[in-house]
Amino acid sequence: MNHKEAIQHKVFKIIGSTADELSLECYVIGGFVRDYFLGRSQVKDIDIVAIGSGIELARAVAKKLSGKPEVKVFKNFGTAMVKSEGLELEFVGARKESYRRDSRKPIVEDGSLKDDQERRDFTINALALSLNKETFGDLLDPFQGISDLNKGIIRTPLEPGITYSDDPLRMMRAIRFATQLNFTIELKSLRAITENKDRIQIISKERIVDELHKILMSEKPSKGFELMHKTDLLRYILPELKALQGIEEVEGQKHKDNFWHTLEVVDNIAATTNNLWLRWAALLHDIGKAPTKRFDKKIGWTFHAHEFVGSKMVYKLFKRLKMPLNEKMKFVQKMVLMSSRPIILSEAHVTDSAVRRLVFDAGEFVEDLMTLCEADITTKNPKKQRKYKNNFKLVRQKIIEVEERDRIRNFQPPVTGEEIMKTFDLKPSKEIGIIKEAIKEAILEGVIPNEHRAAHEFMLEKGKELGLKK
Ligand code: ATP
Ligand code: MG
Repeated sequence: MNHKEAIQHKVFKIIGSTADELSLECYVIGGFVRDYFLGRSQVKDIDIVAIGSGIELARAVAKKLSGKPEVKVFKNFGTAMVKSEGLELEFVGARKESYRRDSRKPIVEDGSLKDDQERRDFTINALALSLNKETFGDLLDPFQGISDLNKGIIRTPLEPGITYSDDPLRMMRAIRFATQLNFTIELKSLRAITENKDRIQIISKERIVDELHKILMSEKPSKGFELMHKTDLLRYILPELKALQGIEEVEGQKHKDNFWHTLEVVDNIAATTNNLWLRWAALLHDIGKAPTKRFDKKIGWTFHAHEFVGSKMVYKLFKRLKMPLNEKMKFVQKMVLMSSRPIILSEAHVTDSAVRRLVFDAGEFVEDLMTLCEADITTKNPKKQRKYKNNFKLVRQKIIEVEERDRIRNFQPPVTGEEIMKTFDLKPSKEIGIIKEAIKEAILEGVIPNEHRAAHEFMLEKGKELGLKK
């Protein structure tokens, strides 16, 4: 079959004619070809494979491209990268690979196109289109990748046991592609992943996290976590989530399965936000429930302070996975810590002061918190579902009203410590803190408005109570 229409961009003609001049066969391969057949928006990173030296081809191509872009050579990998017109062209010579057990770094030799296709992770990633003039646009698909694309199957060119053991990152890639594309991993492959799961430990955390991010950014992330659970990769990657799985029963009382609940929450939030870190927060919002689970004869199952415990666990988890320990992590911690607050609110009558406190504590992230909590509604009882949703609507409305009136979000005390010191002729002392706190409390409780005059009056009263003299 010929597929010229996939490679209309002029860069492909230039690469093909350059390869002809060098008497090299060359092909575009991998993600670009796959995504063309899937009708996914055109990718910017393009992999070119040459039968011979990819580096030499890259150098010759770069000379013909407008602006004569720089060629970045990665000697160790035998690859070269050229950036041109927003495209990233990666050149490599076709190769054959063999692996040792303790590493994902293969021993590499020159090979044929088929050797090169065989070493690729999945049949759908092994499709190649010829770029040489004579055969421009011809599809080379020795492993029935097109058929797998049409059927929606993730399958390896080689025996899956070998493919996954050679490079265990492919286990995460299989799950990630299955999630992104809503494909099924072939049964043989799924078994091989389960058998090789221990080998995920030789993969760097950064690579694993890249895949986790991609899974989380999919339309229905639950699929990926379900597959990690099924193959038990979860044990090594996110044991905190695995620990949430299961239902215990004591004296006829059960708690909900917090693993499956969490996956529902993640799918819910994926439908309303593309904020990666908010999606992480949804994934981790209940992790404190495993270590805090207790059964109490009077009240049944409890997860006392699970939000606090969970937010501490977020730090450890981020650290273990070598994720950034920066404001993103703090955001996730904050979301986990506050994840029950709006829910408690929505169960009861929504008072202004409760809303003011919520806004005060959540600050600029109050909308994100509301989004998380709305996603957390997974009850199958339509009556309760409606009640919670309505109450959340009310809370959101109140947030806007309260904010207009009281400006709590970036709260600045209307009376400063200096003013208190001056008024009562005080040196720095604990009374100042007491008065400031009392003013803040009075504002949040709605005793006084968030204004200087009212706060000043209140300060005078409070000072009198404390026996201070003006
Ligand atoms: P995306 O860019 O959406 O992540 P992709 O398939 O383009 O998907 P890349 O990581 O860009 O993924 O890799 C490009 C190609 O290189 C793949 O299509 C595949 O053929 C091959 N490849 C990448 N990683 C591996 C791997 N770990 N094992 C075997 N082949 C791989
Ligand atoms: Mg790619």
